[in-house]
Amino acid sequence: MDHFLYRNGQLMAEDVPVTEIAASVGTPCYIYSTATLLRHFQLFEEALQGTDHLVCFAVKSLSNVAVLKVLGDAGAGMDVVSIGEYKRARAAGVAGERIVFSGIGKTRAEMREALEGGIRQFNVESEPEMQALSEVAVSLGKVAPITVRVNPDVDAKTHAKISTGKKEDKFGIPISRAREVYALAASLPGLKVVGIDVHIGSQLTDLEPFRQAYRKVAELTGVLRAEGHEISRLDLGGGLGIPYARDNNAPPLPIEYGAMVREEVGHLGCEIEIEPGRLISGNSGILVSEVIYVKSGEEREFLIVDAAMNDLVRPAMYDAWHDIVPVVEPAAGAEAQAYDVVGPICESGDTFAKARPLPQLAPGALVAFRSAGAYAAVMASEYNSRPLVPEVLVQGHQFAVIRRRPTFDEMINRDTIPEWL
Ligand SMILES: *Cc1c(COP(=O)(O)O)cnc(C)c1O
Repeated sequence: MDHFLYRNGQLMAEDVPVTEIAASVGTPCYIYSTATLLRHFQLFEEALQGTDHLVCFAVKSLSNVAVLKVLGDAGAGMDVVSIGEYKRARAAGVAGERIVFSGIGKTRAEMREALEGGIRQFNVESEPEMQALSEVAVSLGKVAPITVRVNPDVDAKTHAKISTGKKEDKFGIPISRAREVYALAASLPGLKVVGIDVHIGSQLTDLEPFRQAYRKVAELTGVLRAEGHEISRLDLGGGLGIPYARDNNAPPLPIEYGAMVREEVGHLGCEIEIEPGRLISGNSGILVSEVIYVKSGEEREFLIVDAAMNDLVRPAMYDAWHDIVPVVEPAAGAEAQAYDVVGPICESGDTFAKARPLPQLAPGALVAFRSAGAYAAVMASEYNSRPLVPEVLVQGHQFAVIRRRPTFDEMINRDTIPEWL
């Protein structure tokens, strides 16, 4: 459920007509709904109610500082994977003590800045990283709280590019080696073990892989405690999927996920951290685009829109489906036409949908790509010298540009011509 609904024949973003925003900021543009962000965050709060927990929003899914402030002010912690994301979370007013630092390639400079600025924990992914963190912490006279990310070798049954918990994936340490890696952690100065971390992938549509992973983590908790390690936190990662197509089988709900979490790890007396990204941000955003041309090919009708794969790469990169809806509600019983919806970029991969049934659309019509909050604006590039598109945040009747569209001069003037040319 989101807050992009038709009212009086118009697609609304909460209480603002999408056409009004498009007229004001131009297209393409991303629009985010505050109410939808908060609602999905609250679903996780409710799912874990009564447990000691922290819901850490995965910043990489949607990292605009205004969005982070909405969630941070509501009580969310943050899961970051780079010092850039850490700086964004801090700029949004989130305390370091509510930020967990994930990722397989943290540099010493990143570790230093996070330790100096305050950090809840580092989720360490390898022994070399652990050695480096120990040295950095000692050099600063600090103690780094850590968990070790274990790879439980379960099949998340998701797209190969976003599976992270199988033994051939690059993430974490094999769970079979956890005892020796925790022993190393205990022997190194400047580190304090606080728990275990796991994250098996993204867009999971079944609870079973989570359950298998969490059961292994629960078992490991007992083993590590018996060896004298303090395991007081379990970071269970993110990954719960969302329905991208409205008529699809819906993935499990956060409340069902929460019940499973309690069953598997609730008896351990640990603080539970989760790191949802997509489920909070995904359906909180749309990408609005204008039809430039309707082109009749030999076999197909092409709807050429002003958004492209540089703005929303998920269809090209993950074969992802996004529902596409006209901003003006089609009349009941309006005849559908199958369109290939494509952008202007000079690659055939710049295709959002093939043979997609839509009402007949003319140049100038606006369409919205739904479920475009997560892994959308954050993955945008300027390929084909198309400036990054603006982001707009709506709350009730108000909206604001939270990242403006750069001018062409701003884009071009970042390049410099050496004086010897
Ligand atoms: C990407 C990522 C997440 C968020 O995944 P979602 O599928 O967006 O919920 C959480 N934790 C880690 C470590 C990640 O890499």
